Amino acid sequence: MMLLTKKMIEIRSLLQTVGQSETLTLPSIVVIGSQSSGKSSVLEAIVGHEFLPKGHNMVTRRPIELTLVNTPEAKAEYGEFPALGLGKLTDFTVIQRTLTDLNLAVPAEQCVTDDPIQLRIYSPNVPDLSLIDLPGYIQVVGRDQPPELKEKIAELCEKYIQPPNVILAISAADVDLANSTALRASRKVDPRGERTIGVITKMDLVDAERGVSMLTDKKYALRLGYVGVVCRIPQTSQSLFHRGNGNITTAIARNEQAFFSSHPSEFGAESNLDVGTKNLRKKLMHVLETTMAASLKTTSEAITRELEEARYEFKVQYNERPLSAESYLAESLDSFKHSFRGFAEEFGRAEVRELLKRELDQQVLNLLAQKYWNRPFDDIAPPPPEEYPLEDLPKADPNDTIWQYKLDGSTAALTKLGIGRLATTVVASSLQAHIDGLIAGSRFSAHPFARKAITDASTTILKDLSYDISDELEICIKPYKYRIELEDNEWKKGRENIKAVLQEELKACETANKTLENQIGGKRKTKDVMAFIDRVRSGSVALEGNGVGGAGGFSAALLEKGREAVFLRDRLDVLRLRLMAVKSKQCADKKNKYHCPEVFLDAVADKLTTTADLFLDAELLSKFYYLFPRELDARLGRNLSQTEIDRFAREDPKIKRHLDVVRRKDLLEHVLKEMEALRQLELREKRYSSRS
Ligand code: GDP
Repeated sequence: MMLLTKKMIEIRSLLQTVGQSETLTLPSIVVIGSQSSGKSSVLEAIVGHEFLPKGHNMVTRRPIELTLVNTPEAKAEYGEFPALGLGKLTDFTVIQRTLTDLNLAVPAEQCVTDDPIQLRIYSPNVPDLSLIDLPGYIQVVGRDQPPELKEKIAELCEKYIQPPNVILAISAADVDLANSTALRASRKVDPRGERTIGVITKMDLVDAERGVSMLTDKKYALRLGYVGVVCRIPQTSQSLFHRGNGNITTAIARNEQAFFSSHPSEFGAESNLDVGTKNLRKKLMHVLETTMAASLKTTSEAITRELEEARYEFKVQYNERPLSAESYLAESLDSFKHSFRGFAEEFGRAEVRELLKRELDQQVLNLLAQKYWNRPFDDIAPPPPEEYPLEDLPKADPNDTIWQYKLDGSTAALTKLGIGRLATTVVASSLQAHIDGLIAGSRFSAHPFARKAITDASTTILKDLSYDISDELEICIKPYKYRIELEDNEWKKGRENIKAVLQEELKACETANKTLENQIGGKRKTKDVMAFIDRVRSGSVALEGNGVGGAGGFSAALLEKGREAVFLRDRLDVLRLRLMAVKSKQCADKKNKYHCPEVFLDAVADKLTTTADLFLDAELLSKFYYLFPRELDARLGRNLSQTEIDRFAREDPKIKRHLDVVRRKDLLEHVLKEMEALRQLELREKRYSSRS
């Protein structure tokens, strides 16, 4: 039964996915031989394809862990490099090229490395085998090769030919066996010749008698014996297979058959000698199977030890808390949605109103500054002539239509500001900012992939919604663009609010003033610069530069700061004055709206806010609150592939470690169970065969 090797090979592949440790090696057949001994030819004869790197300068620089998987049901033959993720390679020249590239990637000064290349070949024509091809021994170091190459190769081979591995020692018939590096190396680690198979290649190059003497060598007697082969593909067939894709098994077998049967007395059935690649394959299968069976117990024990370690780590480090990439993602998503629900409950119409009013307050202040508080302080750009200087304000004739125009113009500027877009954008940005905050405070913060998915989900929804909502909101506030009627209580409320706004602005200006004073270098210096700028403005001094843009002994930078200070002083004057006006009796009555544009505009802003907050609450918030969790489910839930979920979970190093431990433990448990089943099977077979 060749089931054991197959199973063990599967187990090996499983173990490789969790990173095989040194102690956990299942037996393999390790192939050693001098350069040109015919090592590659033997391996290719076993596989039935040319796939190994060739070329004069081409030494194998990395071990190739070659796993052959017999697929009796399948027709196709293909190879896979599990570590590279290239998929199924049906073209063996591609495999050959890939191996060449992988070998050449090892820097010349490093010569060889023990980092193995894993290659699996699936075919109905190969036996289940696990072979390791090593760099060929070299006798003399080439001129372009590093001097330590010879030793390095020997060291690498020695590492691999340790038990429980079987050694396939390749020697060419045209070289004296006493000079075979492979046999010498093998003898060192297997002096009694218990786990070495000798392969004598190029039997066609020596006369049959000499061939026989080699196969029956007694100087280094091998329990598993010597096998003689002729692995060269005959010239006639070679051209047929020059692309390396045809199966060469039959051609080689025919050639060997022709050779050995032409010496019947030496190699015939009576000779009891092992010859031919076909026999070699059989022998390899049998030997590996027996070795695997013999190592079942020790391998099981090694896996048990590894498992104990994994369980211990799981217990001590993770308190035996189960974890899978899926459960981690699901939990993270749930907790994020939970925090989102919390936010949605807190952030409603009142919060939208607050946001919008704040924004519109700023717009009102800007309008007031533009239309009313303007003062010819800037010597470079004098104010437009139709603007009234501040000092004229209190004295202005209230019946002058200019004040009507001014207020109507300001109101129109406010209502035609594009409130629909402005309000929608303000609320949408705030929602986005809150989502960003929720992400930052969630487990997802450590996951770039999820962070992006969530941000994309919210931006997409908000963008889609905003488009229509802006337009619809604009339509809602349309009536205010033509006519605005204020109730007494609305006026009162506006007056209270603008008082607070002006006071706040006053404070902000005072703070800015302080900062500026410090930057200029104190009160005194500030005063001096300001006095100079005032004189320039009144025309008593000319602003003449001194070559570097400054004037009056002040640098250009200082003058700039001075201008800012003068602006702030004037702004403060105006604010104080207007605050007084708003507080005055006159502004208590909405009849005097032309004297109190601040109150009027504030009341208008309030009306606009009321319309907008109602609309946005219904249209933007409700819809967003409905759509967002669903979009999250789509983007981070059902639409993710297993690989994406794994990648997500592994982005967090802590989670990755936890997952690795769980996976390792689960896998070892699984492997151990399989091993136990195999052992039972073995025992039954043994009992059965001893009975019969
Ligand atoms: P490696 O360097 O040990 O891998 O050796 P190769 O498999 O590349 O073989 C070296 C050379 O020996 C090649 O030219 C092969 O064609 C040739 N060769 C291999 N096996 C045989 C054989 O059984 N008989 C003959 N005549 N030549 C062989």
